[in-house]
Amino acid sequence: MDFSLNPEQEMIRDAAATFLAEQCDSHAVRKANGHDAGLWRAMREELGWCGVAIPLDLGGMGMGQVERGLLVEQMGRRLAGVPYLASACLATDALLHAATPKAQQRYLPALAAGELGAALALPAPAGWDPRACCVTARRSGAGYALEGQVAQVPGAAQAGLLLVPARLEGQRGGFGLFAVDADAAGLGVTALATLDATRPIARLELVQVAGVRIDPEDDPSAFDAGLRRAVHLAMLALAAEQVGSAWQCLDLSVAYVKERRQFGRAIASFQAVKHRCAQMLVMLEAARSAVYGALRAAPALAADALAFEAACAKDAANGALFFCAQEAIQLHGGVGFTWEYDPQLYFKRAQASRHWLGDEAGCAALLEQAPAPAAADGQDAGLRTEVAAWMERHLQGPYAPLRHRGGPGDEDAFPRERKEWEARLAAGGWTCVGWPRSAGGRELAAAQQLIVHEEYARAGGPGRMGHIGEGLIGPTLIAHGSADQQARFLPGIRNGTTFWCQGFSEPQAGSDLANVQTRAVQDAGGDWRVHGQKVWTSLAHESDWIFVLARCQPGSHGRQGLIFLLMPLDQPGITVRPIRQMGGSAEFNEVFFDGARASAANVVGAPGDGWRIAMDLLGAERGMSTLGQQMHFRHELALVAEAARANGAWDDPVLRRRIGQARAGLQTMRYNALRMLSGSPGQVDLIYKYYWSNWHRALGELAMDVLGADGNLVAPGDARRTRLQGLFLFSRADTIYAGTNEIQLNLIAERGLGMPREPRGAAA
Ligand SMILES: Cc1cc2nc3c(=O)[nH]c(=O)nc-3n(C[C@H](O)[C@H](O)[C@H](O)COP(=O)(O)OP(=O)(O)OC[C@H]3O[C@@H](n4cnc5c(N)ncnc54)[C@H](O)[C@@H]3O)c2cc1C
Repeated sequence: MDFSLNPEQEMIRDAAATFLAEQCDSHAVRKANGHDAGLWRAMREELGWCGVAIPLDLGGMGMGQVERGLLVEQMGRRLAGVPYLASACLATDALLHAATPKAQQRYLPALAAGELGAALALPAPAGWDPRACCVTARRSGAGYALEGQVAQVPGAAQAGLLLVPARLEGQRGGFGLFAVDADAAGLGVTALATLDATRPIARLELVQVAGVRIDPEDDPSAFDAGLRRAVHLAMLALAAEQVGSAWQCLDLSVAYVKERRQFGRAIASFQAVKHRCAQMLVMLEAARSAVYGALRAAPALAADALAFEAACAKDAANGALFFCAQEAIQLHGGVGFTWEYDPQLYFKRAQASRHWLGDEAGCAALLEQAPAPAAADGQDAGLRTEVAAWMERHLQGPYAPLRHRGGPGDEDAFPRERKEWEARLAAGGWTCVGWPRSAGGRELAAAQQLIVHEEYARAGGPGRMGHIGEGLIGPTLIAHGSADQQARFLPGIRNGTTFWCQGFSEPQAGSDLANVQTRAVQDAGGDWRVHGQKVWTSLAHESDWIFVLARCQPGSHGRQGLIFLLMPLDQPGITVRPIRQMGGSAEFNEVFFDGARASAANVVGAPGDGWRIAMDLLGAERGMSTLGQQMHFRHELALVAEAARANGAWDDPVLRRRIGQARAGLQTMRYNALRMLSGSPGQVDLIYKYYWSNWHRALGELAMDVLGADGNLVAPGDARRTRLQGLFLFSRADTIYAGTNEIQLNLIAERGLGMPREPRGAAA
């Protein structure tokens, strides 16, 4: 799935942003008090936005969900007081999916041309719920007479056409969709005063109102399926709108905290404030991934899968907007609590929107029930099949016990066999698939690499012993290494015969990596002698080589004067001492250097240039090399759900809801990855690591809550429980290595939001 926008889509987004910024500022929103008739007329009649998702043959622009999403996102940013969602989304989609072709011909061209506005009178704000339907339809002459009321219908007072779902009198369980003229006799439309005064809502009273049935009478299931589809698509549109509103809350907040001074400095320089803004960005970008992933996928999705995607997107958007709106008030301090400042407008909209088309309970129900879509998105099916078939053929015999073993928290499992497996994988051509051909790789595009990682993990491929070589030092050598270094080291990595570890952290250089104290001193022959200590060195006890960041210029500080060295571990002057982790295994080590040698040929870049090389490598650590893990997460989540079904925890609605939300988070994570790979606009690459590590840590907690008191009992014979206990314990490391949570939030705030930098020496 490609997340990048084509030029036409960019034009739509930019034109909408400019138009709405001009026409719909804070003053205009307040003046409109829920409905801006002039703005609505311009959107319909001049800009033609109502026809964006209507097919060409019905008079529309023939575009799709994404284009409509881009428009409503901009409307959400400005809190545009127009019934666009009601008319151009909900009612339009109800006509497209639940009405007869005749009705479509009759109404959709007028909607597309902006001559008509419509509203769908759903029985409950949360969506289509037949049990809540309080309108009945009785045959009357050639048509029907409708009787009843609908409590809240967005856009009803502005609509010329009302679409009313009604219970068919005399037909048990039967429903139909009816078209009602806004000026029909017996119809009462009462505009409602709302706390969120930015969206027009009305109550309907129907007393013997003439209605025309417009759903296909010969296919009773079409009504229900069509209406559900319309609701799920409108959930996506509303979620896009919420993303826009959350975006504006963040923009308002960042602008304010950069300007507002307290204690003699901008409040943006306080870390608590920076981190709050960074968390807003995390939630915003994650919601944006969920929404745009779903909008892109929607046209091809079957009903269940669309329901799942809609719930993922709406749930993420509900959370993001509420959080961003509430924090906008908080970060503005006293003025945030005033009528005059805008955060209150977004806060009220946030509260109202999260109860419209998919509240928390509604989303949870969909997330629990609908089958999660397979990770595959239909692209590159040949490659998927090829990897899956290879894994099926080769992860057999002596390698069968390696299935789903190894990797973080389980590195002690079968290290020798997993090294042999690396060589086998290499022989099949499945190592280093993203490397350039000149370096012996297959030069697969990023999306194809993701597929290889996914299918590898789906098949239960063991945790890769060679991942530091393949994902970190290999790419670094390709970018910065000499021709000799590339010729010497890349083949061993690619063939799965040489294993590497990363010697960066030291007792006094953790988050502040630039505080490296390990010294490298050049000897008379030009080689380097290394003295000092590294710590937390993952897999050093299983590795052949280590890359080391050391200080080569005496008296230098911070990022200056560092050197990047490649050193064999098996030599005098190096001692590797494993450190036991909280899970009981010893996956990382202390590595002591006492005059160990690095040959002059094994300096990467120039002496003094080590920081730049190390930073490039850390970029890789947070990016591509982590993509494959999502499928492992999928497997762990399946184990959690299995455990819940096995021990009855599934009956607990709170745990079920958390499992559903974890499924949604996993889907969001996948879209984060795909967005990152397609270089889509936004800040998703910055939030990627923070999102997955915190999701995984929460999954560990969920696993233990599902196991209950049994989670405390060690049972080596129970593979599932052991795995979940390992997940619980090891996931505590996820928010520490490769940049702690706090350092991630610093980076997000500084690089993503332009907030003042922390006083620090490192970006690690
Ligand atoms: C399982 C695991 C594997 C690892 N593998 C490797 C490896 O292979 N090679 C390697 O070189 N390293 C490795 N590490 C080390 C890892 O990179 C460091 O643990 C990490 O960078 C944090 O450094 P620290 O442990 O010294 O914590 P510290 O930097 O001391 O941090 C302690 C706490 O203070 C917070 N803090 C620090 N600075 C700031 C700040 N400016 N603002 C706000 N909060 C701050 C941190 O977020 C943290 O919560 C591994 C760590 C783990 C847990």
